[in-house]
Amino acid sequence: MDIEAAPDPQHDFEASLFVARKVLYAAASMRLPLNPKVYRVLYEAEVGPYETLKRLSDELKTAEHVPDVVEIEDLHDRVFDAAANHRGLSDISNRLMQEVTQVGDMVESRIGEDASFIGTLNEARKNFSLFTRASDARRLIAELVAEAQEHAARTAEFMSQLETKQNQIAELRRELAELRDRVNQDHLTGLFNRRYLDEALAREVAEAQKSGRPLSFAICDLDNFKKLNDSWGHAVGDSVLKHFAAILKANTKGKDIVARYGGEEFALILPDTQARDARKLLETIRQALFSRNLIVTRSQQRIGHVSASFGLAGLRPDDTVETLVARADELLYVAKKRGRNNVAADFGMAGAPGNQG
Ligand code: GH3
Ligand code: MG
Ligand code: MG
Repeated sequence: MDIEAAPDPQHDFEASLFVARKVLYAAASMRLPLNPKVYRVLYEAEVGPYETLKRLSDELKTAEHVPDVVEIEDLHDRVFDAAANHRGLSDISNRLMQEVTQVGDMVESRIGEDASFIGTLNEARKNFSLFTRASDARRLIAELVAEAQEHAARTAEFMSQLETKQNQIAELRRELAELRDRVNQDHLTGLFNRRYLDEALAREVAEAQKSGRPLSFAICDLDNFKKLNDSWGHAVGDSVLKHFAAILKANTKGKDIVARYGGEEFALILPDTQARDARKLLETIRQALFSRNLIVTRSQQRIGHVSASFGLAGLRPDDTVETLVARADELLYVAKKRGRNNVAADFGMAGAPGNQG
């Protein structure tokens, strides 16, 4: 047979008082909304009401530490959080602290005159129209708990609004980053565009000249592209541009910057790369393009071999961006004159004319 304890009003009552004390201290130290109901309840303590009040007064006076969040258990063992620092309410808790102090002083002086404990309690009760029933105590605690819960709810709402705003900010940041990328991108090939190339080249040239590290710059131009366009149409021409862009991308890495320079021209910035090494790389790229026999997917018609010419300049100590680009451009012209489908390079060493390959 199941058994259960009979309701014990006394126990209930003490539980109420325990919570009231806890709530009062937490609320006061956290500057939550408060009213004198709270310490009225404390007066209902059966053991040492004066000591309780005195200790409470001391605790309030010495409460230096204000926790950010405190957990308050109500009578039904619920746990809720309340945030601290509601400064607008601090005057209420200050007033309460003053009142508690006054009561403490008053009780102390009475005990000095008249040691009768009951007399002191009665005096205090008269002054503060105290409740004497546990049900009153519980009702007051419920009110206090409700007040604190409301405060917690307001805090939660504020936190959720804050979270929404933070999400919106994060979303805008993502969009901005995306837009920034698009501003720098060539939309046909997905490579960097001319705008970005100009910026990057100025930066990389300055960096290389400061550090003394090598830098290579190349311009690549598809050969006879006008003819390809005329024979196969602009759409096929576009596909060939994308095909070449993919080859450039696949053969570069790390700090290398690949951009569409305009039309059927592309540019490569190769930081930390000697022109001799850059030439090997361009040779690999040239062959990767030329070795493939291209066909039109839909009709299976053979386009044949497409080639490109390359002008490669190694940075010289006295170079500016303009002289570097002009040299690469001249070398591209040299490559075209030689019959296209080849790499013309200088190795960037000042005072070594004719050092071209
Ligand atoms: P070369 O070997 O001397 O470089 O001859 P080329 O025909 O490649 O050079 P030219 O400068 O005479 O022609 C470049 C052609 O590239 C002309 C233009 O129609 C084409 N072109 C430029 N931009 C695009 C593009 O975005 N898509 C396509 N399909 N063609 C383009
Ligand atoms: Mg061209
Ligand atoms: Mg061309």
